[in-house]
Amino acid sequence: MARQFRAAGHEIVAYAEAADMAVVNTCAVTTQAASDSRSKIRNIARAGVEQIIPTGCWTTLQPKEAAALPNVLRVVTNDQKDSLVPTTLNLEPSTFDLEPIDRTPIPGLHRRTRAFIKVQDGCDNKCTFCITTIARGEGRSRPLADVISDINSALAGDSKEIVLTGVHLGSWGQDLNHHLRDLVNAILRETDVKRLRLSSLEPWDLDADFFSLWNDKRLMPHLHLPLQSGSESTLRRMARKTTPASFRELVNAARDVMPDAAITTDIIAGFPGETEEEFAETLDFVKEMQFTGGHVFSYSPRPGTGAAKMKGQIKPELRKRRNHILQEAIEESAKIYREKFIGQKMSVLWESTTEYGEYGWRMEGWTGNYLRVSANAPSPRWNEVDEVELQEVDGEKLKGAIL
Ligand code: SF4
Repeated sequence: MARQFRAAGHEIVAYAEAADMAVVNTCAVTTQAASDSRSKIRNIARAGVEQIIPTGCWTTLQPKEAAALPNVLRVVTNDQKDSLVPTTLNLEPSTFDLEPIDRTPIPGLHRRTRAFIKVQDGCDNKCTFCITTIARGEGRSRPLADVISDINSALAGDSKEIVLTGVHLGSWGQDLNHHLRDLVNAILRETDVKRLRLSSLEPWDLDADFFSLWNDKRLMPHLHLPLQSGSESTLRRMARKTTPASFRELVNAARDVMPDAAITTDIIAGFPGETEEEFAETLDFVKEMQFTGGHVFSYSPRPGTGAAKMKGQIKPELRKRRNHILQEAIEESAKIYREKFIGQKMSVLWESTTEYGEYGWRMEGWTGNYLRVSANAPSPRWNEVDEVELQEVDGEKLKGAIL
């Protein structure tokens, strides 16, 4: 959207105070995310933006509530999102020729050095906790040529890493008679990408053979595999197409090919009907998998989903307690993982730089295997890749020295 606004002659500014118009991409994945989306719109209105266009999942699910928020010009539901810019500016979509416009970082504090390229939207599964699939509709893949063109544009705009994203990324190609493997191979073959990362992948979309893609070192050794629960019966109630046994097999296959890969996950704590035994199974399984990081979400009932209607809803305090215990278990294995790399030399892409007095600049960035690293340098090195010797663990990060 930023590229389309720029192509139509508008300027993208860093702060709401300087904007005439704001597009807010709302989220509904949890109750908290929906509430944050509403607050964001109110804050932007308070900052003086007179024309606000909410879009995204929460807007799609609650269009009237979105329209009633201050300074909302119009709401754009997900099915209209692709034409948000031309319809807002009263332009024919066909008058847009976006190819010559490079991606440039959005200004502001959170400038990105990685380009997140959406290759797919929607999902054909029906996980019983998931509102996303209701808000986004059925799975659709973006054509390979469009993805390649988007990646080339991001690389021309000096993005140093490409991250492929999608609501259900692993299903890319199912509607085009292709597999995600074909997309990854084509990107590696047809573009000059130096660092390519895949975002979340549902475990049932992959097989052991998929990991041979990582023989190409431009593919970052990091897999995010949402587990959601380590209990077979809970997974069944969630309608997940996986079991702890098949998940274990997949992780083992990945670690056979990439012994040092980061494997991160998502877990839901306190899913309806989760007994103490089921929770204990999940905790044991999480410990066994030795995840190198991840998110634990306290179950959040989303209206319209199967799980929201299930009997045996767990009290919020218990969901929170279980969340905390699971987070501690993940943090413990993540710490062991971080410690393994002390003394090693790794490439780091710097994503943030802060000046601090006589010491020069403090930088933070990510290694290929998703370790967060900080280091000092005499001048800012934002969006550069440096070889760094990792020296010590510093909370959730590693401190290092640029070589
Ligand atoms: S696979 Fe992912 S997006 Fe699809 S229904 Fe399940 S959780 Fe939702």
